[in-house]
Order: sequence, then structure tokens, then C-alpha cells
Amino acid sequence: MRPTLVVGNWKMNGSRAVNAELLQGILAGLSPDIQASCAVCVPAPYLFQCEQLLAGSSVAWGAQDVATEPCGAFTGEVCVSMLHDFGCRYVIVGHSERRGYHGESNELVARKAKAALDAGLTPIVCIGETLEQREAGETNDVVGGQLHAVLELVGFEDVSRLVLAYEPVWAIGTGKTATPEMAQQVHADMRALVRKCNVDAAETVQILYGGSMKPENARELLAQPDIDGGLIGGAALKADDFLAILRAA
Ligand code: 13P
Repeated sequence: MRPTLVVGNWKMNGSRAVNAELLQGILAGLSPDIQASCAVCVPAPYLFQCEQLLAGSSVAWGAQDVATEPCGAFTGEVCVSMLHDFGCRYVIVGHSERRGYHGESNELVARKAKAALDAGLTPIVCIGETLEQREAGETNDVVGGQLHAVLELVGFEDVSRLVLAYEPVWAIGTGKTATPEMAQQVHADMRALVRKCNVDAAETVQILYGGSMKPENARELLAQPDIDGGLIGGAALKADDFLAILRAA
């Protein structure tokens, strides 16, 4: 059995006051019946606050993007050593909002994943098709292409250190969730692709589902054999909802 991981992606939300209340709410609500691991991926300016409030707790933290380069003249970028400096364990790479709004290619996402791995961080690599692509029957090709680019660059050994997230773009922030069967199918296909690269890693790699996951649908999604956790947007901004998803896991 793979351990379950539930990660909140706060996206571009929060303030010092709001974050403090949210994190304190999560910490206060953690109870022994929660078996899943959890983390929050927050805007870079709040990593210090996470380190202050979460160090020593069972809630890990991370960033939502990272540069490919180690340091230097790259205005606006944040590099892996900075994330390390603030105690990050995770970094999301290739979120569809970065691929869509910032033109991130499969190759760039793969390089970000590799930079994170090389620095000892765990990249959460997001993969998913748009509605047009699904309706055109291209889901397999799109998901396969996005995943292949990462697997090819990180190589046989490091595949086991990735976390993958299937996030169908049409389900993000729309209230439309993939049915558990639909999501399970893509997760199983993704695992089969990992198996071609590294048989052992295919059994251990965690594949999270993201896209309108909430307390009402989490249990059924997380019960699927190849869904190993959730990457939660909107519902991660309320401590009660985030905790309810953790309890459903
Ligand atoms: P929502 O849960 O708001 O649909 O967002 C999902 C997501 O994009 C997580 O990365």
C-alpha cells in the first residue's frame, strides 16, 4: 500500500493574518485518526511564515514553482536553494496555470522537476488535459507526452522520488470533478508509463488527483486503487474542508 498524501495548493491567495488563522486551524484539528501525510504549497513570500508556524509539526510545506537555474541574473525567479533555505519539502511544477498562462513547455517543466530533485526537494509534477483535448480523444497522448518528458529527463533512478498529480484542466476550479472511474483510468495509465521506465518505482510513486476535490467527493476518489492522495485548491483554503479531506483519506 502506498501512503496517502494530501497537499493544499493555495495558489495566489493569502495574507499573513489569513494564513496564520488557516494554519493554526489545521494544526488544531489534526488528530490521531488522520493517517494521511499532508503539506501546504504556498506563495513564496509566505514560506518563512510556514517555517515559523509549521516546523516540528506533521504538516510539511512547499512552493508552487521554481527556477531551473541555481542562482544569478533571473529577475523574479526563485531557485531551489532558496526553497531549501526555508525548509521546503515539496515544490509544485508544471501546474496547468503555469503551463497555460506562462507558456511552460513539457521540457521546461521536466527541467524544473530535475532541478528540484537534484536539490533534494520533492517535485509534485502536474499533468492533465484540457476539455478540448479530452473531447478530441487526445487525453492519452497529452498526459503521456507531459509525463514522458519528465521521466526521460529525470532518469531511471530518480523516478521513484517524484510525486505525480493528475489534474484534468477542465476540473480545476470549476466544480466539475472527474468521476472516480475516469480519474482512476488516467492514474492507472500514468502508472503503466512509469512502469516502462522503472518497474519498482511504478509501485511506490504517489499519484495525486487534483480538480475540485472537496470533502463531499474525496472519499470516493481516494478509494480508487491508483489514486494516492489529493492536490487541493479551493478546499485547502478552509481548515475544516482541508481537515475533512485528510480524514477521508
Ligand atoms: P481546485 O481544487 O480549486 O479545483 O484546484 C485544483 C488545483 O489546481 C490544485 O493544484
